[in-house]
Amino acid sequence: MNILTSVVELTTYVAAIKKSSSSIGFVPTMGNLHEGHLSLIRTAKQSCDVVIVSIFVNPTQFNKADDLKKYPRTVENDTKLLEVEDCTALFLPSVEDVYPSEPTLRFSFGTLESVLEGAHRTGHFNGVALIVSKLFHWVQPNIAFFGEKDLQQVRIIESMVRDLSFQINIKVCPIQRENNGLAMSSRNNRLSADEKEQASHISVALTKARQSFSTRAITEVKKETISYLEQNRIKVEYVDIVDGYDLRSLEEKSELTYMVVAAYVGDVRLIDNMALN
Ligand code: AMP
Repeated sequence: MNILTSVVELTTYVAAIKKSSSSIGFVPTMGNLHEGHLSLIRTAKQSCDVVIVSIFVNPTQFNKADDLKKYPRTVENDTKLLEVEDCTALFLPSVEDVYPSEPTLRFSFGTLESVLEGAHRTGHFNGVALIVSKLFHWVQPNIAFFGEKDLQQVRIIESMVRDLSFQINIKVCPIQRENNGLAMSSRNNRLSADEKEQASHISVALTKARQSFSTRAITEVKKETISYLEQNRIKVEYVDIVDGYDLRSLEEKSELTYMVVAAYVGDVRLIDNMALN
C-alpha cells in the first residue's frame, strides 16, 4: 500500500493513475477504523481499479474543542487493517497541509442543514463540505463511498456534488452493526461494556418503530420511541421521522421515510437511523 503524507505526494500519485486510465474509488475517513469503514472499502474494491482511503481528523467540522481532542487516533492499527484489505493508497495529510490558512469560505445548504445534526452542531456541515471538496479536488475519484450511518452528511454531499458539478458518483453503503444491533462508530470505544449493551436499545427502538410504522400515526410512533429510549436510561437529543431525501420532519408518511435518532449514553453522543418503509 502506498502511504502518501502530503498533498503534493497525493496529487503526483493521482496524476500517474489518471494516465493509466484506471478508475479511482475514494473512501474519506477520520480513522479509528472499524467494520463500518472496511465495508465501504470492500464495496469500493468491487467496482474500482484503485482504492484511495484518507484518514484526517478534520478540525473544521468539530464544534467542541474537547471532542476534537478526545477523537481516537490509531493510525498504526488503521494502516495494518488497510494493508489486510489490500487498499491501494492511504492519504494521511497534516492539518497545516490541508489548511495552510484559515478558510473563510462558507457553504449554505438551506433547509438541509438547518435540521437534525446541523441544528445541534453549528458549523459541522460547513467543515464537512470544506474537507470533502478539497479531498475531491485532490483525489479526483470516479466514485466516492459514504455510509448511510451519516444520512444527513450523505444528502449534503450529494447536494454539493450537484451544485458544484463534481464529476463524481456518490455511492451510499448500508450501516454496519454490532451483533447486538449497535451501529458501529469510533465513539463506541468510549462506551463501557454495560453502556454498549444499553446503547443497543437505540437500534431496538428503531426496529420497533419500523414494525409499528405501517399501522400507527407518526406522532404515536415518535412518542413510543422516545419513551422506550428514556425507559432504558438513554438521554434523547432528538428523535424524528423525516423524508429520506430532503430530511424535512414529516407529519404524513412519504415515499421514503426514515427515523433518525441522536442520543447520549453516559457522556457519549450516538446517532443512528433506519428506513421505516
Ligand atoms: P468517519 O471516520 O466517522 O468520518 O466515517 C467515515 C465514513 O464511514 C463515513 O462515510 C461514515 O458514514 C462511514 N461509516 C461510519 N460508521 C459506519 C457504519 N457503522 N456503517 C457504515 N458506514 C459507516
